[in-house]
Amino acid sequence: MSCILCEQKNLKIISRTDSKNNSSLNIFLCNVCGMVQQNPIPSEDEVNEYYSSVYRQDYKKTYVPKIKHVFRAGNLGLDRISFLKNRGIDNGSLLDVGAGGGEFTYLSSKLGFMSQGIEPNIGYSSYAREEYGIKIETGQLSDVHGKFKVITMFHALEHIPDVVKAFELLFNLLEKNGHLLIEVPNIETNDASPHNIYFKAHIHYFSSSTLVSAASKYFDKIDMVSDSNLRVLFKRKEVVSDLILPSFDQVAKTTKRLQKKGWLEYIFKGGGYKKLPLRLSKIFIESRISHKSGIKILNDMIKYH
Ligand SMILES: [Zn+2]
Repeated sequence: MSCILCEQKNLKIISRTDSKNNSSLNIFLCNVCGMVQQNPIPSEDEVNEYYSSVYRQDYKKTYVPKIKHVFRAGNLGLDRISFLKNRGIDNGSLLDVGAGGGEFTYLSSKLGFMSQGIEPNIGYSSYAREEYGIKIETGQLSDVHGKFKVITMFHALEHIPDVVKAFELLFNLLEKNGHLLIEVPNIETNDASPHNIYFKAHIHYFSSSTLVSAASKYFDKIDMVSDSNLRVLFKRKEVVSDLILPSFDQVAKTTKRLQKKGWLEYIFKGGGYKKLPLRLSKIFIESRISHKSGIKILNDMIKYH
């Protein structure tokens, strides 16, 4: 049993249950590099089969996202576009990996980029094509061909079995000096319910240091925002280098954070007690837009942006 990142055999079990359904799920922390991961890691075939069974479900009933989800995804999309633009990345060909219902691909295509997406779910990707008239293919990262100036990947990397190989594919799809924007959940946050951390669909659980390390053969980190999620902007390396593992201090920090994770910390430090009123005000806003179509909502967002 060896670590997906450093390949050493020094893993410590930190959880045995899937938080969604209490079934058995073994999660390990690597004592050498601090990577938190499922073990055994499902094979690519197993993951593809999992998604293809979701495909079949979707095929029967045409997928239409809830309007409140379009609203949330649209707001997040605008925030991510501002993040890129504030760093001088404001045009060129863009690929969104794991494009979901297509909100980010559509918004970015209206705000300066030549955007396209790839999404494994048939229902989501066909909805995106029909609703927004954008180029979204149904498939995996390995199905993409071409060269892009910018690649974005929001909450997708944690689902992919071989992360280092994923960074190699991304390297090959980017033009020289191209940028990669990645967002994943942050395992070091205190802003997540302790009962909602580990589950089957998430194979890897990144800290800032393990995410930067997993990319280090192919990418340099140029900016990072870290809260309940990690948002990291990478630049493609000129030449591939050796993998750089997290330092001893970084591994010690992750280990300490994981020992502290629990309900008391969530409630008192993570702001868990504040979540209820926030949710109610969100429901109120969302109930007022529920009669609009996806494209109308996103076009209104652009207008008032
Ligand atoms: Zn390791």
